[in-house]
Amino acid sequence: MNKNRIPMIAGNWKMHLNAKEAGELALALKKGLNPDLPHEVLVAPTYTNLWAVRQALAGSKIILSSQDVHWEEKGAFTGAVSPAQVLDAGCTHAIIGHSERRKIFGETDEIVNKKMKAALKHNLVPVLCIGETLEERESQRTYRVLETQLAGAFSGLKAEETVRVVIAYEPVWAIGTGKTATPEQAQDAHVFIRRQMEKLYGKDYASRVRVLYGGSVKADNIDSLMAQPDIDGALVGGESLKADKFLRVIHFEEALAR
Ligand code: PEP
Repeated sequence: MNKNRIPMIAGNWKMHLNAKEAGELALALKKGLNPDLPHEVLVAPTYTNLWAVRQALAGSKIILSSQDVHWEEKGAFTGAVSPAQVLDAGCTHAIIGHSERRKIFGETDEIVNKKMKAALKHNLVPVLCIGETLEERESQRTYRVLETQLAGAFSGLKAEETVRVVIAYEPVWAIGTGKTATPEQAQDAHVFIRRQMEKLYGKDYASRVRVLYGGSVKADNIDSLMAQPDIDGALVGGESLKADKFLRVIHFEEALAR
C-alpha cells in the first residue's frame, strides 16, 4: 500500500447467491463497514441481483459494479448487457477481462479492448483483470503475458481517457485454488505492471494507477499482501461471500493503523 493511492477492496460474487441472499450480504457489509475508512469498497453481484444489492446499499459508500459488460449499445445480442443498462442498474464500475471470461467464454484481448472502450465511453470505471496461467508462469512467460494483455486492453486509448481505470493482477493459478501468490511474487508482478503503464502513459500515470491483487485473498493473508508498496487493494472471490471474513479483508491492518 502506498499512501498516495486510495486502496480498493473489491468483492466478486460471481454466479453465487439469490437476490435475497445478495441483499442480506450487502446489508451486513454496509452495517459492518467502518465509515471512517478512507478507501473504496466495491461489490460485483450477478446481474439479476443488482437491484436488490443497490437497494440494500442505499446510503452507504460501497460501490456497485457489474461483473462484465458488453461493448455494443443495444440490439440483437442475446444474453448480453450494455453499458447503459449496467449504469441504469446503479453500477459505476464494471469488471472487464476476468480470467473466467477469458477462459470459459473465449474472450480475447480484442474483446477486452472493445469492452474497455465501451465502458469508458459511458463513464463506467473498468476494473481490468489480467494474469498468467500456471503453465505460462512455469515457462517464464508471466511478464510477456502481462505485457500483451495490457497492450491489448489499452490499445487505442489515450491516457486522459483511462485515468480512472483500476487494474487487477490475478494470476489464474491462484484464483479459487487456495494458492495465493506470495506477497513478494505479487509485488514483483505489480512493479512490472506499473512499469508497463509507465511505458504506455508515462511516469505520473504509472504512479497513480491502482493495481489490485486477486487470487485466494483471505482474511488471514490480506495484511501481508497490503504491506507491499505496490499492492493497492484486492479483488476477492470466495472470501467476499462471507460478511465477517470480507469485512476483515476490508479492514486490513494497515488501513486500521492509518
Ligand atoms: C476472483 O474471482 O477474481 C478471485 C480472485 O477469486 P478467489 O478470491 O476466490 O480466488
